[in-house]
Amino acid sequence: MSKFTDKLIRFMYGRYGADALYRFCMVLFLILLIISLWVETPIISILNLALVLWMLFRMFSKNIERRRKENEMFLKATAPLRSFWSLQRMRIEERKTKRFRRCPHCRTILRLPIKKGKHVVNCPVCHQEVHVTIRF
Ligand SMILES: [Zn+2]
Repeated sequence: MSKFTDKLIRFMYGRYGADALYRFCMVLFLILLIISLWVETPIISILNLALVLWMLFRMFSKNIERRRKENEMFLKATAPLRSFWSLQRMRIEERKTKRFRRCPHCRTILRLPIKKGKHVVNCPVCHQEVHVTIRF
């Protein structure tokens, strides 16, 4: 192991490091950076500087419990959005083998195998019968 890596590991010991909130801030920082190439306003520069300082503060913070709670709050606040995007990704990835229908009783998304025709399925959440038609 190089001397620098050794020093870095020793420095980061007991410090918080990166998490989901950090990665989100990094993406936000890059987006703001790209925007600032076209739009010249001090607001974006100040915002980006504040963002970087906050990211560094969180990363090197020794108050791990507090940083963990911040990340937890961030994950909780973005849960609906993240679940929406993961569903969209699943729909794309499984488009050749599965069809997605919404349960009319509880609004749950049902993930069904492609079998052409009319079917009656039981919703795993509300246990009601759902009539589905799969055409293609
Ligand atoms: Zn249901």
